[in-house]
Amino acid sequence: MTIRALIWNENEHEKTNTLVAKLYPQGIHGAISKAFDGAQDISFSVATQDMPEHGLTEERLKNTDVLLWWGHKIHGQVSDAIVERVQKRVWEGMGLIVLHSGHFSKIFRKLMGTPCSLKWREAGEVERLWVINRNHPIAAGLGEYIEIEHEEMYGEPFTIPEPLETVFVSWFEGGEVFRSGVTFQRGAGKIFYFRPGHEAYPTYHNKQVLQVIQNATRWAYNPAKPWVSIDDAPNVPHDKAPVPLEVKGPRLHHDGEAGFR
Ligand code: ZN
Repeated sequence: MTIRALIWNENEHEKTNTLVAKLYPQGIHGAISKAFDGAQDISFSVATQDMPEHGLTEERLKNTDVLLWWGHKIHGQVSDAIVERVQKRVWEGMGLIVLHSGHFSKIFRKLMGTPCSLKWREAGEVERLWVINRNHPIAAGLGEYIEIEHEEMYGEPFTIPEPLETVFVSWFEGGEVFRSGVTFQRGAGKIFYFRPGHEAYPTYHNKQVLQVIQNATRWAYNPAKPWVSIDDAPNVPHDKAPVPLEVKGPRLHHDGEAGFR
């Protein structure tokens, strides 16, 4: 069984900023794709925001097991209809890995239902990501911590719902801390948010960061058949109940009538 990953990148800084273009000549998506070097069980493709339908057509999403998301500067230009399409696929069981500034992406905020705000500072400081859930599959192959020489600081409070699991907690040179690797489940879909990856630093050339992305892709994969009816709300007639029964008392709705939304 091959896991079909799709790396999605807004690909805007790379086109407009020479520093970012120099760090990531193949785009941030190109650097992230190196996470799958040598991973025989994962195949990948890439999509960017400027493609028709942002490269996220119904067909493409149907053939994606795990979607990786990097966005920052033009979150607002992502079509709401496509965000809903991605949300539905997550509910059906597609895995989603949201990277760095993707905390403010439409899709992440929609799935979380909270502001997803945080403190930040761009000062090239050291980030140390402590592995606090050592046997978690996302932390496989890592030591006690990952140290990144230059990173942007993201600080608590990070206004997300209480995570299912917290895999990493970051300490920054300037003193702040942050829940930098957290998992969620929405519908049948597994979600992992992973903090590092500021566009002005070579974070996606860091082998351990790429290892986490490879591990997380495996973790987020749901081998079950997509739960395509997850958003249905069937009205079950009384004579089709698991134990058929007679209707008692008055009622507002008729057999088979669709409910309100
Ligand atoms: Zn950043």
